Amino acid sequence: MCVFTLATALAACAPTQPSEAGQTENVEFGDTLTMRYLGAAGWEISAPREGSADPVVVLVDPYLTRANYSGQPSADPGDTRPVYSRNDTLFSDVAAIDEIIERADYILVQHSHPDHVMDVPYLALKTGAVVIGHESTINIMRAYGVPAQQLITVRGGEDYDFGDVSIRAIPSLHSPLNDKRYYQSAVVERGATRPLRINQLVEGGSLMFLIRIGGHEVMTMGSMNYIEREVEGLRPDIALVGAAPSHLEIYQYTPKLMAALGYPSVVIPTHADNFRVPYGAATAYREEWVSSFADEIRAAAPDARVIIPRHLEPIRLSVR
Ligand SMILES: [Zn+2]
Repeated sequence: MCVFTLATALAACAPTQPSEAGQTENVEFGDTLTMRYLGAAGWEISAPREGSADPVVVLVDPYLTRANYSGQPSADPGDTRPVYSRNDTLFSDVAAIDEIIERADYILVQHSHPDHVMDVPYLALKTGAVVIGHESTINIMRAYGVPAQQLITVRGGEDYDFGDVSIRAIPSLHSPLNDKRYYQSAVVERGATRPLRINQLVEGGSLMFLIRIGGHEVMTMGSMNYIEREVEGLRPDIALVGAAPSHLEIYQYTPKLMAALGYPSVVIPTHADNFRVPYGAATAYREEWVSSFADEIRAAAPDARVIIPRHLEPIRLSVR
């Protein structure tokens, strides 16, 4: 059994051999951009900042608590943490967050389900980062006392220049869960108060982002769907693509996305782990999902480099 402590977990528990799906070790092309996979759809993306010793740090859907709110026993036999149901209130695992995330300048939230938004109030208050998201996301921040100066509400279509980075919010769609029957129109209203129960953290609309940072353009996804006309013509060199099996509900998901984006040079599957078990658990990865998705990418975009991320391991990329 892998007992998780951050100092040892990755070395002790992560596979040491590259999987069939691709590279599992650190990938080093240079040092202009560093990305760390936080699990679920979560990423830390950082780059050197001109005139400063501190990098510029962008977090995307940072969710590190990895609570089991399935209402079912954990998939990890060593996981003795509480089991939550959707009527419960979740609390961020601040010890884990403090150990992993030191600072942030921007936090981008792609929708307001718990595995995307739950740790954002704590992180925003801890780091002072600006939170960018849909109205429901921003109302959740207000409920937890994040100052108005830190909040930017978007609906998708905005393309904002912040100097060190620029960030384009892209209208998108949620994963077609439940055999395409998933649909959620509820929103988190302004005036909502803390603490919010799990079932109050509703989608509130879905976004993707294009982040221009450190000489790269990184496209992010928080779900297994996209609006083709909204991504057509974007030219990210790095695409984080939702890879859980619900993408198979979408007609030609992978080839149409690769074509719309002009065949990005680096493709990294995201949102294809088991985010309800701790980091380091034997069941924390969905190797079979990622492996078959990597095959789809290689078929659709043979020149793309597919990088299989491991939790918290830095991926370093140089200027393209
Ligand atoms: Zn969701």
